[in-house]
Amino acid sequence: MPPLLACADVFALPSVKEGFGLAALEALAAGVPVVLRDLPVFREVFGGTVRYAQDPASLAAALAAAPLDPEPGRALARSLTWERAAVAHLAVYRNLAGMRGNAKARKGNGCGIGLLQGALMPVFDAHRHLGRLPAFPFYGGPPVDPAPGAAGTVAELLDQLDRDDVERALVLPNYGVPDPDLSFGFNELVLEACQKDDRVLGALWTSPLPSDARRNEQALALAGETGVRALKLSLLLGGAPDDPACRPGLERIFATVREYGLVVHVHTSPGGSSDIDRVGTLVQDYGDDVAIHLVHFGGGASGHIKLGGGRFLDWVEAGKRVYTDLSWAIGFAPRWLAAQIEARGIGHDRVLFASDEPWGDTPGETARLAAAFGDGELGDRAFRRTFSDLYDTTPPLAPN
Ligand SMILES: [Zn+2]
Repeated sequence: MPPLLACADVFALPSVKEGFGLAALEALAAGVPVVLRDLPVFREVFGGTVRYAQDPASLAAALAAAPLDPEPGRALARSLTWERAAVAHLAVYRNLAGMRGNAKARKGNGCGIGLLQGALMPVFDAHRHLGRLPAFPFYGGPPVDPAPGAAGTVAELLDQLDRDDVERALVLPNYGVPDPDLSFGFNELVLEACQKDDRVLGALWTSPLPSDARRNEQALALAGETGVRALKLSLLLGGAPDDPACRPGLERIFATVREYGLVVHVHTSPGGSSDIDRVGTLVQDYGDDVAIHLVHFGGGASGHIKLGGGRFLDWVEAGKRVYTDLSWAIGFAPRWLAAQIEARGIGHDRVLFASDEPWGDTPGETARLAAAFGDGELGDRAFRRTFSDLYDTTPPLAPN
């Protein structure tokens, strides 16, 4: 079929009933312009990548119209893999089957928080790290290992998911020691984890630094591998979102994210190049069509105030595809954000639970978010559903 389809000037599917539209997707994959009957299901699947028609006259007009740019259609076809369909189905089945018993049965709750958080278990963790780092003389002191509990192998990671009652997790290379080869080197381990257990989705370590260009290209070449759902960006090891020298690297990273329908997972912390004032430029520049997950809700009191004081929900209201997790959030921040969401009636679907293990702790992070978000609709979204919506399913393409 593909060679035959590719010979067509235009492909029309004027069906009155369809469940999905696989034939039209095959045409898009072959770069052939597509005209579809204007059905809700087609609008949902194909968005702005095709033309729509309702009756013979509009069908004829659409067939004769100038072809649309084939690239968004090709990207859509590339993004809708069977693997991704299977992962999304699994998530739905898990929800239907009652995930709570599922994780409990796997291996109890070793961290002793079952009584406190029983109603909220299990959780979907939007951010934890894999890979053991060497001790390092941080801040001019003697060499220390600040995260001795880090999972060093896939088996250790899976044990920790059981221990923490984590049903799904987005797993990222560990970092903190200023040696880029370490974090880039953990990308393979992350891929291994994704392939070993369907609870695990992965984020790849990337960097816009010119000195990391070769490593970055190697990482981006893995973006289509099974289980990869995000690219990780942290400027703690150098570079800045607004540094012209980093722009080519950022463009490469965001182009890859668009190509594969991934999420950008970016660290924030107060001051310096990770400050939300500067990281926020990425939301401004790319957030219209790329989902951006801001780790740590801005980071520290100043970051929380800048984001929670309006900016985060303003971005949501403006149509930016921006998300945040509340790992490392301090004091007032989770409760304040919950109140803002309630007051403005937006943002319910933009907050994720994240443990940041081994840099955070699952019981503490769970307790803090649970206290602020409760065990109703808001908590259910933050602990599970928003993870599924963002990381399990293919993000819709921006309309043309
Ligand atoms: Zn982290």
